[in-house]
Amino acid sequence: MSNNKDPEIRYCKKCGCELVSTNKHKLCDNCRRERNANIRNGVLGAVGTVGSIALFIVTKGKHGGGGTKA
Ligand SMILES: [Zn+2]
Repeated sequence: MSNNKDPEIRYCKKCGCELVSTNKHKLCDNCRRERNANIRNGVLGAVGTVGSIALFIVTKGKHGGGGTKA
C-alpha cells in the first residue's frame, strides 16, 4: 500500500545514465548543462547578430535623423 508516487526510474535520453526521480527532464544534469551551453552559445550568437544589426540601425537613425523634431 504505497500512497506515495512510485519512483519511476528513467534514463537520460542522451547518455543513458540513470536520472534522479526528481528530475523532470529527459536528460541528466550533465547533458542538460551541455545542451544549455550549446543553446546559450546559439542564443548569444543570434542576439549578437540581431544586436549588432539593431545597433547599426539605431546608430544610423541617430546619425541620419534629427531634422524632424527641432
Ligand atoms: Zn546524460
